[in-house]
Amino acid sequence: MGNRYIKINENDNVAITVNAISAGTMIMEGIVANQDIPQGHKIALYPIPEGGAIVRYGVTLGYAKQPIEKGDWINEHMLELPIPPSLDEMKFGTNLVTDLPEPPARTFMGYPNPDGGYGGTRNILGIVTTVQCVTGVLNNAVKRIKKELLPKYPNVDDVVAINHAYGCGVAINAPEAVIPIRMLQNMVKHPNFGGETMIISLGCEKLTLEMLLDEEYNIQENVVTFQNEMGHVAIMEAIMNMAENKLKKLNKRVRVELPLSQLCIGLQCGGSDAFSGVTANPSAGYAADMLVNAGATVMFSEVTEVRDGVHIIAERCVNEEVGKKLADEMKWYDQYLNNGQVDRSANPTPGNKEGGLSNIVEKAMGSIAKSGASPIVEVLSPGERPTKKGMIFAATPASDFVCGSCQLSSGMTLQVFMTGRGTPYGLEAAPVIKVCSRDDMINMWQDLIDVNAGPIATGEATIQEIGTLLFNEIIDVASGRKHTFAEQYEIYNDFTLFNPAPIT
Ligand code: CA
Repeated sequence: MGNRYIKINENDNVAITVNAISAGTMIMEGIVANQDIPQGHKIALYPIPEGGAIVRYGVTLGYAKQPIEKGDWINEHMLELPIPPSLDEMKFGTNLVTDLPEPPARTFMGYPNPDGGYGGTRNILGIVTTVQCVTGVLNNAVKRIKKELLPKYPNVDDVVAINHAYGCGVAINAPEAVIPIRMLQNMVKHPNFGGETMIISLGCEKLTLEMLLDEEYNIQENVVTFQNEMGHVAIMEAIMNMAENKLKKLNKRVRVELPLSQLCIGLQCGGSDAFSGVTANPSAGYAADMLVNAGATVMFSEVTEVRDGVHIIAERCVNEEVGKKLADEMKWYDQYLNNGQVDRSANPTPGNKEGGLSNIVEKAMGSIAKSGASPIVEVLSPGERPTKKGMIFAATPASDFVCGSCQLSSGMTLQVFMTGRGTPYGLEAAPVIKVCSRDDMINMWQDLIDVNAGPIATGEATIQEIGTLLFNEIIDVASGRKHTFAEQYEIYNDFTLFNPAPIT
């Protein structure tokens, strides 16, 4: 078996263990473990005095609370969190990499869209709701549509209801209400929904049809309003009739060869461990750089997980305008957390820590690796649509469901999801490819994880090799030649709006 430890940067004074090791094990010349050390956890390569920096990725993760001996296990209780990087002194555009890896393909088989936007990766009847009040009835209608109508229209993949808890009982004019409203407005136009608009409304809610829809789409053919119908049977019939009309049109969609400039994918991670930042995330970054080289749009997100490495992201912003928006999104989020009387240290989960991630700095450095090296051409507020192609920072919470839903609203048609600890996560409106960070994970979950980046940890594969494999997987799934495990088992998390505004 190859490596016993992984040291990333020559300036690091710690390494992580590839497997669990017992006290007395020599991991390299002159370094013997003083205690039993769990898999993926840090071992000190040098003595570190009290207050001394603990360095991984060439970055200070924190400061030692007490003296650390060479060979000691360093866990999350031993570090003091450093002050986050200042948002007012960042340098923009000083690290613009143009030498990106050559992609093995420049096209995919997708569904072209009438508005000339991104191509679809799936052909779905999307039904957007204005308010939670309609959900119970709509869910029953969707069951009937799938059973009675969908089999007649074999070119349509699925019927998806965009249910949510917004729409009424909310401060609809609050400044931050723009986020949930924008997310729903943009979901109506999702590329996988093929330009067919179908809206279910109650009638008296605060989120009106005028707020949700552009004027030309706010017509009888596109909207069922419960309070205009004579009871349950009539409501059901109205939904079934509209669904059949939409399915007839969607059934005519066919896949054609599209340039990758019409593909918009999203990246995120969840249940990360210490391997995420050295195997799965850098592989995703390599695949992302190839996609960007081919003209695609790639979004990465999760504000609290880039906050501690934001200066590195700033250097990759193509100009000051993009950099300023990056700083503004970070400031907004700092304030948002502050209002809730928490800070970024609220991010790592117990599972992250068990997986060897001591704090948010370490998690952030691993998280950023998924964005590759491409220049960052645009920064989006939560749920905004991109106006540029290339690598984009789409500001969202790190919460898997909220990040996934925000990226969907931004037009993402396929998500690549990196995990170390494992999650069955999936989205209904777009396929999710799950990539794991270590061999033990795929051995446990062979029928849930789509791609294994673990061989990078043991030295049996390179980032370039797994990255290329992942690129090909993305093209295959986007083209409908392959379905992810989450799709095969229909494992779908809820569409989860980000609503930072008050509920009344
Ligand atoms: Ca996440």
